[in-house]
Order: sequence, then C-alpha cells, then structure tokens
Amino acid sequence: MAQVELSPGVHVVIGGDFPKCNTLVLISDEVVVVDPGCSVEALRRMLHSQDLELRDVDSVILSHIHPDHITHAVRLNRLSKCRIVANEITAPLFNEKEKMKEFLGFHKGQPARKSWEKLVNDRMYGALDAGRVDEALSDGEKYNVGDLTLQVLYTPGHLPDHMCLEILEPRLIFGADLDLTEFGPFYGHRNSSIDEFKDSIRLVQQRNYEGLISGHLEKPLVVNYRSALTAYSRQFDLRDDLVLSAVMGGAGSIDELTLSPIIYPTIPSPVILQFEIWMIEHHVKGLIAKGFVEEKKGRLEPI
Ligand SMILES: [Zn+2]
Repeated sequence: MAQVELSPGVHVVIGGDFPKCNTLVLISDEVVVVDPGCSVEALRRMLHSQDLELRDVDSVILSHIHPDHITHAVRLNRLSKCRIVANEITAPLFNEKEKMKEFLGFHKGQPARKSWEKLVNDRMYGALDAGRVDEALSDGEKYNVGDLTLQVLYTPGHLPDHMCLEILEPRLIFGADLDLTEFGPFYGHRNSSIDEFKDSIRLVQQRNYEGLISGHLEKPLVVNYRSALTAYSRQFDLRDDLVLSAVMGGAGSIDELTLSPIIYPTIPSPVILQFEIWMIEHHVKGLIAKGFVEEKKGRLEPI
C-alpha cells in the first residue's frame, strides 16, 4: 500500500522504510503537500493517479524541522514554484540550515555531527538544501485549501517547533511525530522535553477528531487515537523504570547508562548513540526531579 485516500481530497503517501515519513496530500482547488518526506516517486505516482504532476503542487507545509519531514521541500519549490509554509519557530531554522543543525544539537565540533550529516545525505537527500519559507504560521492559525481548512496546533516536546495540523472538514488531525509507532515517543535532542511531550499528547486527547493521521505508521489513520496515545505515553514510564533499574544496578553516569542500549534495540551508529544519550539524559533529569535518583560526588545513586 503506497497511498491511501482517507476522504475526498485527503490522501496519504506512505513513507515506507526508515526514515521516510508519511506525506499528506490535500487536493482541492489547490494541491497542498504536508511533510514531503516520502519517496519522490511515490508522490509522483499518487499525483498521477489524480491527473496531476509534481509541478502542480501549490504549497508545501512543514510540521517541524526534522530532515525526514522536510526532505523534498526545496526541490518541489524549484520544480513547481510552490509556496513553502512552516510555523514561526520552524521558519528561521529552515531558512538557515546551520541554525537547524544547532537547534538539533549538532553544532560545529559536536562529535556526532558528521555522522548525522552523512545519515541525512544518504537517506534524506535534499533536506539540507538552501531554501526559504514563504509564509510563517502561528498557533491556532488557519490555512485554507479550497473546501478544506487546516488549523495549526502547536504540540512541542518531540522538538520545540513541532506542530500538528487539524483538518477541519472532515475532522482529522495530522499528528506528524505524535506518530503512535511501536518505538514510542522520540525526544532525542537536548531541547526536546518529556513534560511538554506529555502535555501535547493530553492536548490532542482532549480534542475530538474522527482520527489521527500518523507521520510514520504504515496504516496511517488511527481512529481510536485516544487509547493509542495513552499506550504510547506509557513508554515514558517504562523507560523511566529501565533507567532507574540500571542506576540501581550500579550505573552511575550517563556514559555507564549508555554502555548497553536502553531506548534503542541496538546502537548501530554514532548518531543513534547520541539520540540514546540525549533521551537518557531527559530521563535522569526527570528521575532526579521526582526524587528517585540523586547525584552524589558526581555519581548517580538511587534514593
Ligand atoms: Zn520529528
């Protein structure tokens, strides 16, 4: 299944293998592509099925600055002269890719930077191309696409610039990286936040939709998204328990906690190790704040 039509004019092109993301395509008087991270060929085929071409795209909207979500934005803009739309936090990061790298923690001299750049260029080629956002949206702002109306819903935590997009008719939400995958929530950057991620999940759960469109699931529409988000949220506690039990087992530092993987099943590259380290740092901070762990003479100890 490379593509699915969820309702008239609302299509999803399935991203497929990691790290490609699902791309939402809205077709009305205009053609709007949200998070162009699927393969270009899959997007081309989907548009062909509607008698459209890549050059017919009018707007590209980006949910946040992660390279798997912005991959083809600049190339689509060069091809179709489409507008690039992002929220006001994402926009300056997109406009200056060095700012994007710093925002993600990969500043010059950061040990995993080269490995991260290689991963992006190997698997998300185009994400680092120079380009400019034409229109910046703020929280709650509406964006009309013919009969369809989109509304911005800020959902920080995964990253500070992460937003979901509500589709008002039919009432759906594009969850982007509130993605409901088996892996669970990703907060593998210094500026990610577990507490904000939990608040964002609660915000989406309080709202009424016919379904949530995941940025990464192969079957992207999740109708029972409230209970699915609760199960997804449990990963935070499970990982807290895993980190706590490693501290109780004698791991007294972040280095020692990352000797064997806790979050990822394996650590195949310096980039994944870096994500593991940053996610574990968030858990250690949380366990200290909750009074389960303390730092004594530079060593982590259970209380
Ligand atoms: Zn992301």
